[in-house]
Amino acid sequence: MADSSNAGLEAFRARVREVIAKHAPDVPPRAGIRSAEDERELAELRAWNRALFDHGLIGADWPAEYGGRDDHEPMQDVVVVEEIARARLPRPFSGATLASRALLDHGSEEQRARYLPGIRSATELWCQLFSEPGAGSDLASLRTKAVPQPDGSWRVTGQKVWTTDGHWADFGYLLARTDPDAPKHKGISAFVLDMRAPGVTVRPLRELTGTADFNEVFLDDVPVPADAMIGAPGQGWLIANSTLAHERAAVGAAVVGLQQGVEALTALARTVTRDGRPAIEDGAVVETLGILAAEVEALAALVRGGLARWVAGTSRITDAPYAKLMFSELNLRIAEFGLELLGPTGPALADDPAAVEAGRWQDEWLYARAYTIAGGSSEIMRTLIAERGLGLPRSP
Ligand SMILES: Cc1cc2nc3c(=O)[nH]c(=O)nc-3n(C[C@H](O)[C@H](O)[C@H](O)COP(=O)(O)OP(=O)(O)OC[C@H]3O[C@@H](n4cnc5c(N)ncnc54)[C@H](O)[C@@H]3O)c2cc1C
Repeated sequence: MADSSNAGLEAFRARVREVIAKHAPDVPPRAGIRSAEDERELAELRAWNRALFDHGLIGADWPAEYGGRDDHEPMQDVVVVEEIARARLPRPFSGATLASRALLDHGSEEQRARYLPGIRSATELWCQLFSEPGAGSDLASLRTKAVPQPDGSWRVTGQKVWTTDGHWADFGYLLARTDPDAPKHKGISAFVLDMRAPGVTVRPLRELTGTADFNEVFLDDVPVPADAMIGAPGQGWLIANSTLAHERAAVGAAVVGLQQGVEALTALARTVTRDGRPAIEDGAVVETLGILAAEVEALAALVRGGLARWVAGTSRITDAPYAKLMFSELNLRIAEFGLELLGPTGPALADDPAAVEAGRWQDEWLYARAYTIAGGSSEIMRTLIAERGLGLPRSP
């Protein structure tokens, strides 16, 4: 039985810090969810993910036969993501996190036995093949199609985009339309896609941060075996939503990241000058820092309440949208203020002698918009809060 008391969680936190100190990957801190830039970084990240699994810090909620821990409890997952964020280290591979949840909750025994060990050892990498050029916020309108073949297998044709880690992935967790005549949410199925199969073309996209984290993935008549479907035909929408909802613990990381951001801004305001005096002596600077700090604390309280309800099984429909919206909008304002404090040196890149904190604030700022889009844009979050939380009329 897990010790879920505060003392128990703090003892667990101390253990997490030890593992992090010992296995931290040699990858520069970057804002947001980023890919390995090269083979060396990829090897570091594989070893990092493997260490997190081996020490029971991730995958702890899996069944014991696949390496889970009997003494796991959900708040430990929050502690893990908080400590990873505090150390400014990369999160566990996002594609594998989602795919493993889909396989555990909806996959066959054969699929679990085939794929989960490779996820634990980080020898096989995964990506999430959901979004398309015409289907992002309205994911249910996706058009990639899987056509059944006489032998029970499938042929998949279509295009995916924004595929994080797609250029490194061995497998994709794919959503494709299997029944074009069914209502749009019901005609979608989930598959395991072999990224090396004939007909799969992956094209990295270089973003304004200068790094290549996402890809376009073109699927041209790709053969997919019959046993690659996750769950039953038409269950893809349900499977996708249930796996996405599992990512609750990540909000803990979001709060820690913002608290550190405000601390870093305060330290920055002590070192940079305005009109020949330390910026921290400027009343407008102090006021902005105070507002940001107060809003981050409000978010922390909101997240604590949401996590308590999540653990008790009484989550409210608006818990996740409120936290996501507040986090991504505050994160953007913190990054903007960092650049404002730095003035003309703000945009300097990491290798520029003028760069402060290895170009941290330009990277944070350039990435910050992505958070307002990924995992449901701010507009979509506001609509969810308005319609489902406040009961306002639904948009047509
Ligand atoms: C960092 C990052 C990582 C990602 N990783 C992956 C990945 O690994 N795999 C994957 O499949 N996808 C991934 N995505 C894609 C992500 O899921 C989509 O970007 C997201 O769902 C939004 O879809 P879109 O980009 O097509 O924008 P759109 O849906 O086209 O939206 C464009 C704009 O219109 C607004 N809008 C759209 N509909 C409405 C509406 N009904 N009411 C009001 N405003 C609206 C949006 O808010 C937005 O401002 C990633 C995205 C980001 C930013």
